[in-house]
Amino acid sequence: MNMDRSWMNHNDVKDRQKPEYIAGVNEFLLFAFTGKSDETMLKCPCLNCRLVLSQDRKNMHCHLLVYGIDPTYNPWDSHGESIQETGNDEEG
Ligand SMILES: [Zn+2]
Repeated sequence: MNMDRSWMNHNDVKDRQKPEYIAGVNEFLLFAFTGKSDETMLKCPCLNCRLVLSQDRKNMHCHLLVYGIDPTYNPWDSHGESIQETGNDEEG
């Protein structure tokens, strides 16, 4: 499966109001919450939580629209128990 992830690079507030960004968020939530209830708490990939804090579906949707999604996060490759351990690159 080859998902289009260009929506994740929408880092401006006004970009996050575009239909393709909102559609991408909905696509991600559908993927992330497959087989789970909307009350399930999952690690939130928004720029505020950065996979440290967990949110339910409603809050995560809100966060992704308000804060944006970390563009380095690949939900379709790394969604799982080890996602906390990724993204430790330090740039000078
Ligand atoms: Zn969040």
